[in-house]
Amino acid sequence: MFGTIFFGAVYLTKALYLQDSYLKECDATVVKVTDGKYIVLDQTIFYPKGGGQPWDTGKIIRGEEVFNVVYVGKFGGEISHEVDREGLKEGDRVHCILNWERRYKFMRSHTAAHLFASLVCNETGALVTGNQIEEDKVRFDFSLERLDRGIIMKCVNKANELLKRNIPIRWYELPREEALKIPGVVKMAKAFPPNIPRLRIVEIVGVDKQADGGTHVKNLREIGRIRLLKIESKGKRNKRVYFAIEDGVK
Ligand SMILES: [Zn+2]
Repeated sequence: MFGTIFFGAVYLTKALYLQDSYLKECDATVVKVTDGKYIVLDQTIFYPKGGGQPWDTGKIIRGEEVFNVVYVGKFGGEISHEVDREGLKEGDRVHCILNWERRYKFMRSHTAAHLFASLVCNETGALVTGNQIEEDKVRFDFSLERLDRGIIMKCVNKANELLKRNIPIRWYELPREEALKIPGVVKMAKAFPPNIPRLRIVEIVGVDKQADGGTHVKNLREIGRIRLLKIESKGKRNKRVYFAIEDGVK
């Protein structure tokens, strides 16, 4: 969630998803192939695992041939697409198609995660010590000694009120020094942004600003609603919360 992938950190590949998270297809050129199945492209719509958001899946198509993308990760600053079989070569012109249903759920979950973390951190002063988005739920760890179910429910209810409203989300870059002046722009206890001159900010307008490299929806109304699943204590100063998102009443 609290991004490890920022503009400027990727060398060979233009990360199209950072600019337009709604791109479902793109053309690309294969620039590198490692061990037959690990593909680097000149540009990509596939999000690599990182910052608590899972990787995208989908297809890379060359002519009539389909290569299924089974994993996408970032290795040595490069976005590497693992495909299910060998055959792609450097210089190949390909067409990429995202598994949009999977990605869009992650976008909704990721923006919901920012909203929820913002409310909990404001309410309690906690930091986020861990966060993972999964297909069916979102997990958070907060640095809290006491975890009051009432406070968490209050945050869930507040989030669900905001999710009904027409509140846009924007993302843009800021110079590092300017970005780091924003209160609460880094909520993750240990994940301070890398030492690069510009940071990507994801802003839920009027609610939260967060340094982040993930993919987000454009409006809170796309998310639906948050349902609290579980709260558990994982130690003296670590409390874990699970929630799911579900379609709201439109
Ligand atoms: Zn995030």
